[in-house]
Amino acid sequence: MYKAKAYSAAGAASPLASDTIDRRETTETDVRIEILFCGVCHSDLHTARNEWVEFMPTVYPVVPGHEIVGKVTSVGSKVTQYKPGDLVGVGCLVDSDHTCPSCRADMEQFCPEGVFTYNSPDKHLGGVTFGGYSDSIVVDESFVLRVPENLDLAGVAPLLCAGITTYSPMRHWGVGEGKKVGVVGLGGLGHMGVKFARAFGAHVVVFTTSPGKVEDARRLGAHEVVNSRNADEMAPHAGSFDFILDTVSADHDLNAYLNLLGLDGNLTLVGAPEKPLPVSSYALLFGRKSLSGSLIGGIAETREMLDFCGKHGITADVEIIPIQQVNEAYERLLRSDVKYRFSIDMASLKSE
Ligand code: NAP
Ligand code: ZN
Repeated sequence: MYKAKAYSAAGAASPLASDTIDRRETTETDVRIEILFCGVCHSDLHTARNEWVEFMPTVYPVVPGHEIVGKVTSVGSKVTQYKPGDLVGVGCLVDSDHTCPSCRADMEQFCPEGVFTYNSPDKHLGGVTFGGYSDSIVVDESFVLRVPENLDLAGVAPLLCAGITTYSPMRHWGVGEGKKVGVVGLGGLGHMGVKFARAFGAHVVVFTTSPGKVEDARRLGAHEVVNSRNADEMAPHAGSFDFILDTVSADHDLNAYLNLLGLDGNLTLVGAPEKPLPVSSYALLFGRKSLSGSLIGGIAETREMLDFCGKHGITADVEIIPIQQVNEAYERLLRSDVKYRFSIDMASLKSE
């Protein structure tokens, strides 16, 4: 065991603050990583404040962070894919059983024994796993990802969650040329969704509640931008979408988006608001529409997504912050004031 620096929250109402945590020594199959950047996902905030108490209660202290990029500093004796100095990433998953039907189908995110990067039972040290708001992390090599060398590292970090979470459902539902695709909410996930939908060749429409984001939405790749609070802007799109990805983190009206789907259209939720959202069955019956969810993506698909980003020069648009500003960043997330992902420069942790 060794001591690592981190930022943790001591309770649902506590701000994040400097802390020291235990990390395991590298086992034979582990990779130890010096963390250079970590993205700030809205899931970090939901978890720090115990908003998912019904499904995944938070164990305190919690160290959030699952959009990790860094440099390998040491490897276990049986590690074959990585060596010290390599640039790597770690996303939302750090372990699974490798044998269940989900793992065998390359969907480790649905493994019943899956271990998330933070707030999951830690098999090695007991307690729960600690995430990327830290100077280092130790992860089994099968959950470590090689990151494209040609991309800006601060902007690569958010690909590990926001990237794969939007890439995976778009691939699953066949987003591509000739498809009309909506992205609801222009935050961390939403802005990656826009970039991917555009790169896949779809006609892309952004739905936002923030009139100040219209110009950015177009710059990011949207063909059209709709103010979702204006019924006159919503009405002309009724019955016209093949696929809509909903990334909203708070309470909102799903039926308004089901009404915009065409025959056999699909609305996929990746946003995970605290409270359940009512759905009208009529909004689904007429047009044989479907409502789905999607959870991050498996390791193989995350590798595919990173390769795609390397080839197409895709990264997140980030605002780089020192770790000392993370509480302020959370408040800005709550005000939808994010352009379009905070990426923590982990060098700032050295002064703590
Ligand atoms: P974010 O950066 O805060 O973006 C959320 C966006 O939703 C906001 O920028 C805003 O966009 C819109 N929004 C916020 N409040 C709203 C409201 N009351 N009504 C309508 N729109 C509202 O968050 P994120 O990091 O992208 O995460 C989004 C959600 O996805 C969170 O719930 C997160 O936990 C979840 N998530 C799920 C997965 C998964 O695997 N399924 C993975 C990661 C995150 P506009 O300003 O454009 O309206
Ligand atoms: Zn996330």
